[in-house]
Amino acid sequence: MELSQGAYKVQNIKLTDLANQFGTPLYVYDANKIVHQLKTLKTAFSGSDVRIKYAAKALTNISILKLLYKNGSDVDVVSIQEAQLALRAGFKPHQVMYTPSGVDFAEITEAVTLGLTVNLDNLSVLTKFGEKYHDTYPCSIRLNPHIMAGGNYKISTGHSNSKFGISVFQLPEIHEVVKKYRIKINGLHIHTGSDITESEVFLKMADILFGVARDFPHLKFIDFGSGFKVAYKEGDIVTNVYDLGLKLSKSFNEFCQHYGRKLELHFEPGKFIVSEAGYLLVKVNVVKATPSVTFVGVDSGLNHLIRPMMYDAYHDIANISNPTGSQKLYTVVGYICETDTFGADRKLNEVREGDILAFKNAGAYGFSMSSNYNSRLKPAEVLLINGEAKLIREREQFEDLLARQVEIDI
Ligand SMILES: *Cc1c(COP(=O)(O)O)cnc(C)c1O
Repeated sequence: MELSQGAYKVQNIKLTDLANQFGTPLYVYDANKIVHQLKTLKTAFSGSDVRIKYAAKALTNISILKLLYKNGSDVDVVSIQEAQLALRAGFKPHQVMYTPSGVDFAEITEAVTLGLTVNLDNLSVLTKFGEKYHDTYPCSIRLNPHIMAGGNYKISTGHSNSKFGISVFQLPEIHEVVKKYRIKINGLHIHTGSDITESEVFLKMADILFGVARDFPHLKFIDFGSGFKVAYKEGDIVTNVYDLGLKLSKSFNEFCQHYGRKLELHFEPGKFIVSEAGYLLVKVNVVKATPSVTFVGVDSGLNHLIRPMMYDAYHDIANISNPTGSQKLYTVVGYICETDTFGADRKLNEVREGDILAFKNAGAYGFSMSSNYNSRLKPAEVLLINGEAKLIREREQFEDLLARQVEIDI
């Protein structure tokens, strides 16, 4: 989003025009930015045979999945429904990495039937898998490395109290099961959480994985999960993927030499690919001055963008209707009957009722975490591609709220 000739534009399209054309609230995604982020990772790790497995849960719109498929991404899914969406978008089964947590075993057999790459994170599931498939279908293993990493506790998944992964301290048990059922382990995986800025965390994971990997002779890939941090504010520290790419590719290639075979290097970024490409456009319903705070109430809330309330996530806010207005302090809140503050004490260009605000970094975990709470309708989604605005999801209507409800005679 850039300010040019007094208007905020993406791909030279005025964001206020989009709000007029499609209404608000509205999710807008920039296809160029998505593709750019994908290419950045591919370039950064080009020293190895890298595969980017886009973490679909960040933003699952079928057109976004198609865009990523067309541009050479693979995909990471956490449910069978995400897998079905990915296959519908064009991904081949082997490109789909299925990493469930705590699902029914029946769903894992479904994933095998579909031909997905199956990644297991539980000894009991691994045992069931071995009993059923023996050496006829390989799987990979999600390890818990016992590293505390990531932006905050809720998005940190690799520490010792996390539900994710099989503990590295349980490797003897893993080997016992693998040996007993002759399971072919084709990959090792670690995903330690989100918003990791230090290359050292990844390199530490690499040490652990490479050490463990020697004892698994059938590997095809090693997967470092994700956690790349993007910028939320100007001057934010982000993961330097080029620095990491150089260091990690080097140690990965050395490892491959020791291992005796070239393996694929996998990553599963969600946020890195789509966060900065997305904007949520909302309309100002009310400006409410109190003796202490001036609230700006908008036509959206935690039902459309829950990250600020759930993770204390920071989303930059711009008044795109009044880019040159004098700046004042505002607290931007939603219309849900809960405390749903998008941003407190934000310096915004003077806000008037009817103005359009843009929330930045709304591409990842925005729409995909939205709900119908307060019986509100979900927003439309628009993709900016080749300089054009394409509707990729219609705004919900009242009928959608009743679609699966059964109205009985009372
Ligand atoms: C959520 C998730 C990701 C993506 O994390 P980001 O922080 O969005 O990049 C990757 N892998 C797995 C297994 C996940 O659950």
